[in-house]
Amino acid sequence: MNRAAPLIAAHFLRARWRWQTLRGPRLDRYRERHARRIVAFARAHSPFYADHWRGHDPIEWRNLPTIDKQLMMANFDRLNTRGVRRADAEAVALAAERGRDFRPTLGALTVGLSSGTSGHRGLFLVSPWESAAWAGTILARTLTPRREPTRVAFFLRANSNLYEGLGGRLVRFRFFDLMLPVADAVAALNAFDPAFIVGPPSLLGFLADAREAGELRARPDRLLAVAETLEPQDRARLETVFAAPVGQVYQCTEGLLALSCPSGSLHVQEDLVAIQYEPLPGDAGRVTPIVTDLWRRTQPIIRYRLNDVLQLDPAPCRCGSPFQVIAAVEGRQDDLCHFLAADGTTRPFFPDTIRRAILLASPHILDYRATQERPGHLRVALALPPDIPFAPIADEVRANLTTTITGYACRPPDLTIEEGIPPPRRA
Ligand SMILES: [Zn+2]
Repeated sequence: MNRAAPLIAAHFLRARWRWQTLRGPRLDRYRERHARRIVAFARAHSPFYADHWRGHDPIEWRNLPTIDKQLMMANFDRLNTRGVRRADAEAVALAAERGRDFRPTLGALTVGLSSGTSGHRGLFLVSPWESAAWAGTILARTLTPRREPTRVAFFLRANSNLYEGLGGRLVRFRFFDLMLPVADAVAALNAFDPAFIVGPPSLLGFLADAREAGELRARPDRLLAVAETLEPQDRARLETVFAAPVGQVYQCTEGLLALSCPSGSLHVQEDLVAIQYEPLPGDAGRVTPIVTDLWRRTQPIIRYRLNDVLQLDPAPCRCGSPFQVIAAVEGRQDDLCHFLAADGTTRPFFPDTIRRAILLASPHILDYRATQERPGHLRVALALPPDIPFAPIADEVRANLTTTITGYACRPPDLTIEEGIPPPRRA
């Protein structure tokens, strides 16, 4: 932590400078230079990319063949530049999840399981330098510098090195488990008195209830919504109840993509990622992003096609930043599920908890879809490779979900497990 703090501070200053300085042609040149640099690095150090791009001109990086999560995972061992084997990384990440040991590392690298937008299992590797850059940049673009260290309360389903590293003179950081009962979270927040609360919108909603009921006395002057989509009506309510601005982070395994500015617009972090936008056929105004991370070298992310659907805002932001504004992130329509407590009341479960209970059941699950038709019930559709029998995997998923849900003092859930995912309904 002591070594991380100066590194975070250095990234904080650099990120602030880039935000204030990079404009127009200067930003274009900066991005071009870094994109070429990361492509050259990946070509030299990642056997997968060297093969994948064979016969293509690396200078024309915008036209290189794309990858997606499935391709990235299938070639994990040869894609990362540290020679980490997928089996080793997965074993570390799964053991950490199951044992609730929140410090999964392989050597100096942090290993994480993706809680991304689709059910595809994803693994990420982050070096200490990369996690300091992540933390420094988020802080540079969301915190207002003060004399005293800012107290930040960070609500996550599971802790990891990535988040633990945020400590020092700039910020005092405390982690709260998402599954902490709301009354306990409120008591802890009252004692900690954070200036800044980070958590999923659904959790922030519960805190707003507690604030309205007079139970939550902490008076944060800023909130940041992560991991789930922040709906406009939820944001409006949070801002009214807390009398504070509510920001939003758009990120995933693939790194930090966009952050809210002080004017409340979600800006693509143009100095961190180069995003190309592919129009959706027959859907004017909606695009799919292809992401090139300009910085991550441990697991280079280059021309990576995300499943998300974005609406871009053509108008410049009133904050003055030329960074592209995302009007809406669609396709991350996760909702809370409710299960029945022993006393007959219902208890909310966050999408990430359900997602992990399903994905951790078996490494064979390629994709899943979970829907709830009534409290206490869950319908789960699983996509498996053709050579894997369905019944044993379904039993594993059933057992894992039951253990997870009853582990929070709820009755065993009514589960329907189906083979194969029906095609999505387009809104
Ligand atoms: Zn702005």
